[in-house]
Amino acid sequence: MLIAIFSMKKYRIDTSGIQGRGIFLTRDIKKDETIFIFSGKEITFTSGYWWYHPNALQCGYAKWIVPRKGSAGEYLNHCCSPTAGVKGKNRIVAMRDLKKGEEVTIDYALSETYPLWHMTCVCKAKNCRKVVKPYQDMPAWRMKKYIDYTSKYILDMKMHLNWNEYLTVTKEKKVRTTIK
Ligand SMILES: [Zn+2]
Repeated sequence: MLIAIFSMKKYRIDTSGIQGRGIFLTRDIKKDETIFIFSGKEITFTSGYWWYHPNALQCGYAKWIVPRKGSAGEYLNHCCSPTAGVKGKNRIVAMRDLKKGEEVTIDYALSETYPLWHMTCVCKAKNCRKVVKPYQDMPAWRMKKYIDYTSKYILDMKMHLNWNEYLTVTKEKKVRTTIK
């Protein structure tokens, strides 16, 4: 019985209106609830391997997670109006209260910073960007709007800050260093 409860998934894989197959909720999910952990093999840029995995999730400056075959990560579609986001390194969480049957989508740009990366988008959202580019190409208001659903490494690198904010943070750090 316990095993049955723990293995109960919150989603199923089915045909997506966006592309190929996608992840669909099998029950209502509350805002910020974890839907699944994006797990797989971690690879580095120098392996030259990541480029061939369109569903790899970037989790560090030059690090990506390639989803295990058949795992949820393989079916995680992008949408310009996403229902989920990344918390921490690889936790996929609901961005709002979600209903059973809704597709779990993330905005790939909230975890991807490789400068040459771009993707033609067919998500059908009203605000579809048509071409999705890396995080740093996003306007500041979008960075702010999705700050709680942005990959940790991006926030750690302070990529969400504008130049003035960045300088302020850097100055504070310098002051603290001097005191020590
Ligand atoms: Zn789109």
